[in-house]
Amino acid sequence: MLSTAHLMTGAAIASSTHNPWEIIVISIVLHFVWDSFPHWDPDYEKWNKRDWYLVASLDMLMGILLVFWVVGPNLNWLIMIGMFFSILPDILTMVIILGKIRILKPYLEWHKKIQNVAKLKYGLIFQIIVVVVSVIVIKMSFLN
Ligand SMILES: [Zn+2]
Repeated sequence: MLSTAHLMTGAAIASSTHNPWEIIVISIVLHFVWDSFPHWDPDYEKWNKRDWYLVASLDMLMGILLVFWVVGPNLNWLIMIGMFFSILPDILTMVIILGKIRILKPYLEWHKKIQNVAKLKYGLIFQIIVVVVSVIVIKMSFLN
């Protein structure tokens, strides 16, 4: 799933609870749950690496800017924790691939296996829903 959807989810979780441990656990669990829903992703194995890094970087930047924009002056360290742990499983994946860390290969294979890859058009619907619901959750939590 795109980093934008993951980052927004992490920020939404952090806006809903103030317990850092809850934020960490729920952010990581929801990362894998979202990955198991039909979604579109740039494919690291099939794409030209330059294109992949460009799209992945833009996606990451877009997600960070979107969180900052939606959260606004309510930005705090809990939201940063939520953002970090919501994308940690993908950061770990890249570290394992680039660092050729053989011992963690089972994680790599499992993370790949749970991906529910869908075509672009259909594969963006769920991610857009995740982003919209996250915006609503964040905005509502700061009303109180
Ligand atoms: Zn993932």
